[in-house]
Amino acid sequence: MSATDPQPNPHAARPCAAGDLQRIAARESVLGEGMKIRRALPTRERRTIGAWCFLDHFGPIGVEHGAGLRVGPHPHTGLQTFTWPIAGEILHRDSLGYQQVIRPGQVNLMTAGRGISHSEESPTDRSPTLHGAQLWIALPDSHRHIDPAFEHYADIPSLERDGYRITVMAGEALGLRSPVRLYSPLVGLELLSAKGGTLALPLQPDFEYGVLVLEGAIRFCGETAKPGELLYVPTGHHHADVHSDGASRTLLLGGTPFTDGLLMWWNFIGREKEEITQYVRDWNAGADSMGNVKGYDGARLVAPLPPWAQPQGE
Ligand code: MN
Repeated sequence: MSATDPQPNPHAARPCAAGDLQRIAARESVLGEGMKIRRALPTRERRTIGAWCFLDHFGPIGVEHGAGLRVGPHPHTGLQTFTWPIAGEILHRDSLGYQQVIRPGQVNLMTAGRGISHSEESPTDRSPTLHGAQLWIALPDSHRHIDPAFEHYADIPSLERDGYRITVMAGEALGLRSPVRLYSPLVGLELLSAKGGTLALPLQPDFEYGVLVLEGAIRFCGETAKPGELLYVPTGHHHADVHSDGASRTLLLGGTPFTDGLLMWWNFIGREKEEITQYVRDWNAGADSMGNVKGYDGARLVAPLPPWAQPQGE
């Protein structure tokens, strides 16, 4: 560190207040075979919060009848997928051979590194409702080509405070540490309240944060938040007041601003256009580098060619 480093001055940190927050509307998108989801990152206004680079809120949706969630085999590079169901189950299969049903309170963490593929589906034996979040974490330059990996975490730490159950899904907070393997300074908390309450929550001044409400409504630093939007909290704050009048469930995702230049296309993260084009061609050609998912009853997805690689005139 030197005097010229753009580190936030800890003496300048203060509690966050309503005027500090940016409100970003999530956009509707479709996951797999027709499941509508709300995507809060990336948006036109903001691409990352720390290394969190993709925030999908899916459901609640009835899956008792019909096929439920079905996302056929598809690849990833340069990121970790972080799956957090709050109702229902998802069956994951990947090209490393892992097959894992995830349930509420658990984390499935798939580290793509240089390349992996997986499928996600509602298992045959399932609860009537599916609801949750799938988040992506960009890998920093130092780790984006590591070997692919899959980890299932059944035991995620939590504590009760001020009418909230606070679960430390990722990183460290309030003296608890999540076991989830990360490669950059990050935190992910779930704030669950059955009847409402007011919570005084410490923030890390060098972290920026995103507030994603999954159920109910809250006030965060005096600003109302509800499902379908993201509140962005810039660095420089050491404290947040969280208030809800009734039942609510909120994800608070933070990290040090991600400075490695990202190029995201479809399910790939890279740095250069040529690199992404190669990933698309490799996957569509069935190259070994992206792996092969066994056991999914359906077709693998086809990677769309990025606009810069389209033949001229099309
Ligand atoms: Mn995926």
